[in-house]
Amino acid sequence: MRAQPQASHFIAGAWHEDCDGALIESRFPATGEVIAQVHAATPAVIDRALDTAHAAQADWAGLPPVERGRILHRAAEILRARNRDLSVLETLDTGKPLQETLVADAASGADALEYFAGFAATVTGQTIPLGRDMAYTMREPLGVCAGIGAWNYPIQIACWKAAPALAFGNAMVFKPSELTPLSALALAEILSEAGLPAGVFNVVQGRGEVGAALASDPRVAKVSLTGSVPTGRKVYGAAGAALKAVTMELGGKSPLIIFDDADLDDAVGAAMLANFYSSGQICSNGTRVFVQHAAKDAFLEKLAARTSKITLGDPLEEATQMGPLVSAPQLERVLSYIAQGVEQGARLVCGGTQVGAAGCFVQPTVFADVTDSMTIAREEIFGPVMAVLDFEGEAEVIARANATDYGLAAGVFTRDITRAHRVIAQLQAGTCWINAYNLTPVEMPFGGVKASGVGRENGHAALEHYTRVKSVYLGLGPVDAPY
Ligand code: NAD
Repeated sequence: MRAQPQASHFIAGAWHEDCDGALIESRFPATGEVIAQVHAATPAVIDRALDTAHAAQADWAGLPPVERGRILHRAAEILRARNRDLSVLETLDTGKPLQETLVADAASGADALEYFAGFAATVTGQTIPLGRDMAYTMREPLGVCAGIGAWNYPIQIACWKAAPALAFGNAMVFKPSELTPLSALALAEILSEAGLPAGVFNVVQGRGEVGAALASDPRVAKVSLTGSVPTGRKVYGAAGAALKAVTMELGGKSPLIIFDDADLDDAVGAAMLANFYSSGQICSNGTRVFVQHAAKDAFLEKLAARTSKITLGDPLEEATQMGPLVSAPQLERVLSYIAQGVEQGARLVCGGTQVGAAGCFVQPTVFADVTDSMTIAREEIFGPVMAVLDFEGEAEVIARANATDYGLAAGVFTRDITRAHRVIAQLQAGTCWINAYNLTPVEMPFGGVKASGVGRENGHAALEHYTRVKSVYLGLGPVDAPY
């Protein structure tokens, strides 16, 4: 099974190779088989990408916004037309089941391109009356933006960054995760085919050093990272030292609170989606499931019954509901968290073991009787491991839900809509759901507070993060100088 791209990088509207860069192998996580090899960008490749982006940006920003939008719209259509091929590619690179990638990856990337294609031509400034004089404002692009991606939603992350950046007149150099280098290249090719001028969107490969080189380069005006909190601290630090704009989409340990009046079947379904979709490798997952005492036994019974029916296996089979984890190190990490859960006294309700010797499969796992101080309730696991905690009262659960450095997401299940709003208002999280979980339509801003992030992606909020305001004072009378 090969998914070898034509070359490692896509720069100035063309494939680009430089074999001096370190070799990066992409493996199919279900078998460990190498599906592609690329080379990390050398300093010369990074230079070329940034120079090209810099040179292309002004002309791109000079196009009428409706023309920029038309190109992004065309790209969205191509993405949709090639959804199956792109989904297979994403499944090979990430191990996520085709059942998911067919609906959640390139499709949501196309939504972002379509949304920002329409948004581009609606951007306006203000006029500000000042008596005799007046002022007006303009929204300007920032320049060259660096995008750095995580491996869990590779093409979606690339689109969530590229679509607003490009729509508002910026150019981008994007570095995908070294674990999933392939679909960003496919996106670059599609944008080029849709008519994007050469150099406006470039892809370079590499590990952290390449990301670090982009984040500190003076040609880069803004850095948008999706990744872990430790990486976020480094990238924010480097960008901050040079006073660059940033968007940081980082990790989480989000609470999902289920009151005893909730529709339990819905709550169980949401808790499963919030822990097992993409084998649990989703930043906003509700991994601390707080269940009110009176509902606990019924909740766990339904949860165990449904979890035992999850079909785990070859992610290329459309009937498969859960695939492997992305890599062997990620598998080791998840298994070590499961072991810590057992050691620290959590009750294993189901799952808990590796499946098969080949591939990075682990069973969907549920722990009950988890307490706030256990490692599995405090640290981001990024695997299919659900921690169920008990609670009695509303004030208590709010305080416990907020007792974390993270603040990416939160959810509440209850039939009492007044309580739902009251609780959500007190939760320290950037993205919240009431009687739903993990739905992230492009129309809705997405992002975290506290250690989970800075800035927002998607929705109208993205305009703030990919443009700046220029104020223009217009003098309409004589200059009143006291000299
Ligand atoms: P990671 O932090 O290891 O890597 C993310 C990206 O940063 C990769 O492309 C990596 O090469 C690059 N990188 C690493 N060190 C760097 C440095 N010093 N300078 C610049 N770039 C550097 O994260 P990961 O393991 O790829 O992804 C999992 C993490 O991402 C989880 O913590 C998850 O919660 C988070 N995530 C967040 C969101 C969100 O929207 N909030 C979405 C998906 C994933």
